Amino acid sequence: MRARPSLAIVVPCYNEEDVLPLSFEVLHTLLQRLVTEEKIASDSRLYFVDDGSRDRTWAMLEAYSQQYAQVTAIKLTRNRGHQNALYAGLMSTHEDVVVSIDADLQDDPNAIEDMVEAYIAGSDVVYGVRSARKTDSAFKRITAEKYYRFMRWLGVDLVYNHADYRLTSRAALDALAQYPEANLFLRGIIREIGFPSTTVEYARAQRLAGESKYPLRKMLSFAWEGISSFSTAPLRAITLLGFTSGWLSVMTLMWVLGTRVFTERAVPGWASILLPLLFIGSVQLMCLGIIGEYVAKIYAEVKRRPRFHIEQRRETPDEE
Ligand code: UDP
Ligand code: MG
Repeated sequence: MRARPSLAIVVPCYNEEDVLPLSFEVLHTLLQRLVTEEKIASDSRLYFVDDGSRDRTWAMLEAYSQQYAQVTAIKLTRNRGHQNALYAGLMSTHEDVVVSIDADLQDDPNAIEDMVEAYIAGSDVVYGVRSARKTDSAFKRITAEKYYRFMRWLGVDLVYNHADYRLTSRAALDALAQYPEANLFLRGIIREIGFPSTTVEYARAQRLAGESKYPLRKMLSFAWEGISSFSTAPLRAITLLGFTSGWLSVMTLMWVLGTRVFTERAVPGWASILLPLLFIGSVQLMCLGIIGEYVAKIYAEVKRRPRFHIEQRRETPDEE
């Protein structure tokens, strides 16, 4: 059994003015309750990361940080995306354990208590797992499930139906800090790190207010991020494709030669030239595209640019 930890709750926020008052209230009350019930240490904190919002999010966060001693508000210089904002938040904490949760509270905050208990019982990483996805659209549910299956098939180790709602211990965070990669797919990296882990189930709710900040475009690019950061299977698929198309063109070539030598219909049609031409051309283009994706990644990694810059950090000093 571990000692009662100090807890940091990290919340990335992008244009969340609609939901923020609600979720702030819920999280703040929860933190205070857990402190009062002596489940967590009294120096536990809330960290809000403003990911370059264009609405009143930062003004609100700044106000909370001035009003409440347990609140830290962090502002990134511009929108860097969910994963980077989350990472910025994680790296700004110094508590014993950190729970990351979305600002819309679709992930049930009450599971935090179970997560802390699991930590005390010995787990360094506790994954929040959605037991039901009833509130997601059928499209999102099905594509997400297919995606988890596909990733597993590619050999990428992911926790099924786990997003970024998780508890991470200080030790696991220190390990995470050693991953210098610029293409962040946190749920994959955390899995990679190892450490004793367990899962806590909860039912996924509706967004409390506001709209999803993950349109289809971002979802697709995030899905690809996951694949290309953790699997080289697409590269192997190219080789396979190359062999298949090579074999097909040999067959076509034999047919063309046969027609030329053994029959009278020896006016080579434009189709027999054009079809393989187009086919091979398109295969080549596709292969180049996928290789390009990896080259782009190598490029990004080699540059080793910092992932974020904190513009401001506000908190009221401890009164104790
Ligand atoms: N978010 C962010 N930066 C972005 C997009 C989203 O920090 O560029 C935050 C957002 O404020 C929320 C979390 O990431 O706290 C998840 O976003 P959302 O709930 O819109 O995603 P969904 O649940 O629809 O997948
Ligand atoms: Mg959400």
